Amino acid sequence: MALYASDMPLRFLMRPGNEATVLAWILQGVARLGLAEVRRSAAYAYGYRLLWLADLTTQEQDQAHRRRFADERRWDRAERLASSFTVWSGYPMTQAAKDRALRPEVEGACRCGGTGWIAEYLDSSDPTTRAERNCPGHNPEGRAMPRPEVSA
Ligand SMILES: [Zn+2]
Repeated sequence: MALYASDMPLRFLMRPGNEATVLAWILQGVARLGLAEVRRSAAYAYGYRLLWLADLTTQEQDQAHRRRFADERRWDRAERLASSFTVWSGYPMTQAAKDRALRPEVEGACRCGGTGWIAEYLDSSDPTTRAERNCPGHNPEGRAMPRPEVSA
């Protein structure tokens, strides 16, 4: 998120020795947005990525993601550069950062309704074939959460 908001040129490629340049852009992005907004947007981006990978985004989530990251190409470059930087730079992630990475956020109405569980039917004409899967955005680890009422 910080790179997205920085002056990072779109054509920049990570190479050994460029770490200080990338770090300066990260700090520039944090200065522009504030650390709280960088963390909030990163959590939304991660939640959206998890839902997108599972093909479970809603139209509202797609719209929220496009509003937040209006320049799709820039967002793609920023994500790729952030990954490269993390691998190449040698800056260790703090435990707090690792902990935050386990808490995605969801922006927009979710298929789970915020419960963490999504109902699925093995046979859409037979309500007794109902199963539930964990929501990748609200319950990525499939932990016990209050489950919705099951009607049989
Ligand atoms: Zn959800």
